[in-house]
Amino acid sequence: MKAIRVHEFGGPEVLKLEEVPTPKPSAGQVLVRIHAAGVNPYETYMRAGNYPLKPPLPYTPGSDGAGVVEAVGEGVKKVRAKDRVYTGRTASGSYAEYALALEEEVHPLPAKVDFKQGAGIWVPYGTAYHALYHQAKAHASETVLVHGASGGVGLAAVQIGRAMGLSVLGTAGTPRGLEIAKREGAHAVFDHRKAGYQDEILQATGNRGVDIILEMLANVNLSHDTKLLANNGRIIVIGSRGEVTINPRELMGRRASIRGFTLWGITPTEEADIHAGIFAGLENGTLRPVVGKELPLADASRAHKEILEPGSAGKIVLIC
Ligand code: NAP
Repeated sequence: MKAIRVHEFGGPEVLKLEEVPTPKPSAGQVLVRIHAAGVNPYETYMRAGNYPLKPPLPYTPGSDGAGVVEAVGEGVKKVRAKDRVYTGRTASGSYAEYALALEEEVHPLPAKVDFKQGAGIWVPYGTAYHALYHQAKAHASETVLVHGASGGVGLAAVQIGRAMGLSVLGTAGTPRGLEIAKREGAHAVFDHRKAGYQDEILQATGNRGVDIILEMLANVNLSHDTKLLANNGRIIVIGSRGEVTINPRELMGRRASIRGFTLWGITPTEEADIHAGIFAGLENGTLRPVVGKELPLADASRAHKEILEPGSAGKIVLIC
């Protein structure tokens, strides 16, 4: 089979398309014919070698993929050959024509969701779901600011927040990103490249502030975020690419909090909760993964460059 292999940590050019043996499922494993693989920012940090998780070399990147079950190992009961599935984690990497996953890492893909969309489920929707339900413990009457609403996690958060009944404010940095965030359910959108846009956000809340901020770029925004919160507000740090200084007094006066998490650290109960919630939303159409760009598997290095550039508009997926 064809697979992307990384033999050394480094820039996007270390992603090489190679011919490797197709793996065979052992007991408890599932072999999936991957039709599309989702590209997430963490895969670029891991490839560069500066992520806390360092896979042994060589490795095939990717956790998110969607396709059809090719074969199952002994004892697997949850799925069988020809089932349509998406993966949340894999044992062998999703940037490949076939991927091995544990039985519990594959999940049914509802008929109305195509494979490209299925490649954009686990990391984006899992993260957004966990942030809103488990971390922020959002209530329907609250207001959420999705700070970075045009990318994979942001659009998932907009759709989930809207389905929960929240008032959803979103930011993006291009007209296209703003339009997609609005189309996918944001009640109001703001340009995070425009000077003074934070004042517009405050005004949109009648100067009360927002209850929840889902933050995609904390190193840039965290200090100002603390000034946008209502009383008892919560900032959930999802993404950060550096250090930042804040004034804790902004939190104290508001009884506000800042929390952070990584999807790797969720509990099995939370994970089961997330997949059940995502499946229901995909089935009833409230969750609709947005594919912004499709590239062939061979162009994985281009995908790794482009995912870190401004101008997000949904997911980048590799067609395998
Ligand atoms: P993505 O698809 O590349 O989207 C990036 C988002 O960040 C876009 O909406 C982009 O908007 C926005 N952005 C750019 N500049 C911004 C600014 N100054 N202020 C606010 N937002 C800004 O990435 P993603 O998959 O959504 O992931 C977003 C971040 O969360 C990444 O850093 C990723 O590593 C992290 N993440 C963390 C977890 C976790 O477990 N904690 C899980 C998934 C993702 P424009 O392009 O429109 O400017």
